Amino acid sequence: MKILDGKLVAQAVKDKLKEKTNSLIQQNFKPPHLAAVLIGSNGASETYVASKIKSCAEVGFTSTLIRLDENISEKTLVEEIESLNNNDDINGILVQLPLPKHINEEKIINLISPAKDVDGFHPINVGRMVQGSPAFVPATPYGIILMLEHYKIETVGKNVVVIGRSNIVGRPMSILLSRNTNPGNSTVTLCHSRTKNLEEICKQADIIVAALGIPGFLTADMVKENAVVIDVGITRVTDTTKKSGFAIKGDVDFENVAPKCSYISPVPGGVGLMTIAALLMNTYKASSKAPP
Ligand code: NAD
Repeated sequence: MKILDGKLVAQAVKDKLKEKTNSLIQQNFKPPHLAAVLIGSNGASETYVASKIKSCAEVGFTSTLIRLDENISEKTLVEEIESLNNNDDINGILVQLPLPKHINEEKIINLISPAKDVDGFHPINVGRMVQGSPAFVPATPYGIILMLEHYKIETVGKNVVVIGRSNIVGRPMSILLSRNTNPGNSTVTLCHSRTKNLEEICKQADIIVAALGIPGFLTADMVKENAVVIDVGITRVTDTTKKSGFAIKGDVDFENVAPKCSYISPVPGGVGLMTIAALLMNTYKASSKAPP
């Protein structure tokens, strides 16, 4: 069994980006510039945005954190996004989700210029991704693709089971791996909360991507020998032995599943780090003006 080491692969991606950014600066170009919009003070969102900003600094990108009050009106947020869209100094815009209940998330996502939509959530980017045209691809599935590439994991003709059909992880993952690309060309089954016989379906899988948000959901009896298992889940569970009071758990019962796998990604130390590396890749592409 080999570990899919998110720390190692993310670092390799970041090293490459740092090199490219240095070369831009030497040629008197501006480094890529990411604007992150954070509304309110949700603990997990604060942590995610802080690590995105820190990662920008690590590779030499400029970043601007725009903190807005929890009670901001939708109108003011719309104006803020429009101003970022029109600001030529900003290459990429991300609005950290979830948004407060009184704000229409879809409206805000649709407002971000597709050319600056480094999260890849805008319908134009989703459509282009589905068609196989150049597009910004959502960071988590893109990060998983980068990880599969790094470890040269064969996907052609493989049975892939994706558990979870969200617009940010499961659904785009299923689309990317079913496309006529490499990695890709897999036979993909997209499972969700209404799927029947999930255990039987998982047992047929050469590659399983677990993205449902239920800690320890994927157990050893659901996994065939030598499968590749990718754990996307991030759930905070109470752990009084930790200073923070919680531990981060994935969707896979790692201890019992790992011995059966050819490759498995851990939580933490797996997909989460790749997500940030993929966001940086998207930001670099947004700044290069070349099609992503
Ligand atoms: P979501 O809540 O939007 O979607 C969950 C999906 O799981 C749904 O499609 C639902 O149908 C499916 N599901 C729920 N119960 C199920 C069951 N019993 N059997 C089969 N399918 C079931 O979640 P999301 O935003 O896609 O996130 C999923 C997990 O991934 C969460 O733990 C989240 O924190 C994590 N996540 C991690 C990263 C990362 O960078 N590693 C990024 C995004 C999300």
